[in-house]
Amino acid sequence: MPSPVHGAIPLRPCACDPVGSRGRRIREPPAPWRDDYQRDRDRIVHSTAFRRLVYKTQVFLNHEGDLFRTRLTHSLEVAQLARAIARPLGLNETLCEAIALAHDLGHTPFGHAGQEALDACLREVDSHGAGFEHNFQSLRVVDVLEQRYPAFDGLNLTFETREGILKHCSLHHARALEVAEPGGVGRRFIERTRPSLEAQICNVADEIAYSAHDIDDGVRSGLVTMQQLLEVPTLREVHDAVRAEHSAANGRRMLFEVIRRTLSKQVHDLVDASARRLDAAVPATPDDARRLPPMILFGEDVAREVREIKAFLRLNLYRHPRVVATTDVGRKVIRDLFHAYVDRPNEMPQEHAVREPRPAAVVDYVAGMTDRFALREHERLHGPGVTAALRHVLDGGTGVAPAD
Ligand code: MG
Repeated sequence: MPSPVHGAIPLRPCACDPVGSRGRRIREPPAPWRDDYQRDRDRIVHSTAFRRLVYKTQVFLNHEGDLFRTRLTHSLEVAQLARAIARPLGLNETLCEAIALAHDLGHTPFGHAGQEALDACLREVDSHGAGFEHNFQSLRVVDVLEQRYPAFDGLNLTFETREGILKHCSLHHARALEVAEPGGVGRRFIERTRPSLEAQICNVADEIAYSAHDIDDGVRSGLVTMQQLLEVPTLREVHDAVRAEHSAANGRRMLFEVIRRTLSKQVHDLVDASARRLDAAVPATPDDARRLPPMILFGEDVAREVREIKAFLRLNLYRHPRVVATTDVGRKVIRDLFHAYVDRPNEMPQEHAVREPRPAAVVDYVAGMTDRFALREHERLHGPGVTAALRHVLDGGTGVAPAD
C-alpha cells in the first residue's frame, strides 16, 4: 500500500468513481469544475437540514454546555475520519465526505430517545407501518424534504451518496423504495448485498467518532471519571504508555492524548486490516465489492477493544441517571408534540397541516425540529412545565419524572 503522506494515491478499481456513477434520479448537466460527488457534498453543506444539526443532541442536550458535541460537530468528525481512512485505501474521499456529512440529517431532536419516541408514536397510530427509522428519514430529507430547486424536490444527489446515507433500512421501507425506484437504493436490503466501500467506511468512521468523542464529553460533563476510564484495559494500556513518555501529563492533556492515540490506533488498524482484505479479494469494480462480504473491518484485537469501549460507554454514560433523565424529558416532548399535532394539525405550518396521511406529515415536521425549537413548541402548546423539569435535571436533579 502506498504511503498516505506522499502525494496522490491512485484510486482502486473498486473505488466509486464519479465518472462511473449510476447518476442522479433527474438528469442534470455536469458542473464545469466539480465532479458529481463534490457537487453532492456542496449541496448537503448548503442544505437547511445540515444547519439544523448544530442544535440537535448527540448525547448531551444542547442546553448542557457549549463544548459538547452536537450532531453537526459529530458529522464533521465523521467526515474527517472517513476521509482519513479512504485516502490510504485508495477509495473515494469526496464520496465519503458527502455521505458522512449527510448521515445524520434525519435525526430527530433529543438523539436516540427522540427517535424511539417518534417510532413508538407512529406505531401506535399505524401498527402495520414500518415505524420511524432515522436512516430512512435522512434519505427522505435529501430526496424529498429539502426544497431548494425549482425543478425537483430534495437535493437530487447521486445514487452512491444516497446509498451511503441509507445505512439501515427495514424490509418494509426497502420494498416501498423498490416500488418507487426499481433497482435503486432499497434493492440491497432485499438482496442482502453490501453498500459501496465508501459507505462501509462511513459506517465504521461513525462508530470510531462517537466512541472517542463520547469519552471526551463524558469526562467533560463529570459523569465519567478518568479513574473509571482506566477500567477499560485498552485505555489503561494507552494511558500507561503516555505516562511513561510524559510523566507530568495530567488532566485534560492526558485525556486528549489517550483519546488521540486510541483514535489513531483504530484508524491505522482499520486501514491495514481492510487493505489486506481488499488485496486478497481484489474486487475489480464497485459492484464486485458490493457482492463481497464486508471489507472495511477492524482486525480481531482492535475489534475487541472497540467493543470494550462501547460496552463501557453504554454502562457508564448512556445509562447514567442524568443522561437518562434528560432523554426522558426529550422523549416526553416528542410524544406530546406528535399527539398535539395529530389532534390539531393547524398548530403546524400550513404546508404540513394540509398533508395526508397526517401522522407522516407530523413525523416529518417533528423529526426536522432542533432540540430548542421542540422545547419552545412544547412550551407554547403545553406551558412551561417541561422546560422547568429539564432545568431541574440539568441543575443536578436526576430521575425526576418530568412535570406535565
Ligand atoms: Mg452518526
